[in-house]
Amino acid sequence: MSAENVLTVRGLTKHYLGGSRLRGTQHVVRAVDGVDLRIAAGEILGLVGESGSGKSTVGRCVTRLTTPTSGTIELLGKDISRRSQRQLRPLRREVHIVFQDPYSSLNPRMTIGEIIAEPLRQQGIRSRRERDLGVAEMLERTGLRQEMRTRYPHELSGGQRQRVALARALIRRPRLVVADEPVSALDVSVQASILNLLLELQRDLGFSCLFISHDLSVVEFISDRIAVMYLGRIVETTSRERLFREPQHPYTQALLSAAPVPDPALARGRERVILRGDLPSAAAMPAGCRFHTRCPVAVDRCRTDDPALVGVTAPDHLVACHLVEPGRGAPDITAVRRADADHST
Ligand code: SF4
Repeated sequence: MSAENVLTVRGLTKHYLGGSRLRGTQHVVRAVDGVDLRIAAGEILGLVGESGSGKSTVGRCVTRLTTPTSGTIELLGKDISRRSQRQLRPLRREVHIVFQDPYSSLNPRMTIGEIIAEPLRQQGIRSRRERDLGVAEMLERTGLRQEMRTRYPHELSGGQRQRVALARALIRRPRLVVADEPVSALDVSVQASILNLLLELQRDLGFSCLFISHDLSVVEFISDRIAVMYLGRIVETTSRERLFREPQHPYTQALLSAAPVPDPALARGRERVILRGDLPSAAAMPAGCRFHTRCPVAVDRCRTDDPALVGVTAPDHLVACHLVEPGRGAPDITAVRRADADHST
């Protein structure tokens, strides 16, 4: 591994059997199908894509809540992709996951203090005083009142419950936090306060983060780098600034065209690209480029050749599209849509 990477993932796949063997409808679902990614120390990588793109499965693989089918996952230089749960135990404190629904992820029979202290208990810290001090610190860091330690999850609001989930995730000072849609179950007004809290905690504690979301504006707010995922693969990845300034992949361009813009004048001048059809099933992957069934600029080659993820405009800007090459501008999908519209009138 490169010394500065906390997480390095290469060729990750997660395939599983769907359908029914009895009814003869069994098939292979390729939920994750060859993902490479890396996260440097102290970096937040946003992983964005539609529901069904496989991004949550990537999160479950890198935290080893599920075992990958193939590929390697290096956490702090150690390959954890094939380790047994017992072998993983020493590394468990280095990675923690925060789930979308803070209510179902908190044990309703435990008090808030017990929930936050649970990772310390699992780590074998027997001293009650030490655990209490850790809980008090995390309550303060996450903006919760000390008296809340005796309350139960159902007595808290959704935002407070997600603060508890963050306190529990960070009490052992993990080097990597996987946040899987951590604000999508919350009211919009609460989302901003949780995102700001996550950024503040990340600045203070210095952990790396894989932030998974379907919402591009949330990912833009929080990430240093962004990886765009489509049907089990990364199709574009680069810094946040570059992705929003120079999106290259037609799918990224379509996502950006649909993202809300705070400036009404800018919003009026922007053309929205609505993709045809739904995301194909991971059980019936299209041949060639997996985006070709919805791509407004697809050419013949796209139906047969699978494009590799390669550097195009800068070493850290990788794109998987036959039409994106060094020295050639990105395909303008809005121009193609305009030409289609003119043609049909
Ligand atoms: Fe579209 Fe072809 Fe590029 Fe895939 S390879 S994104 S189908 S142009």
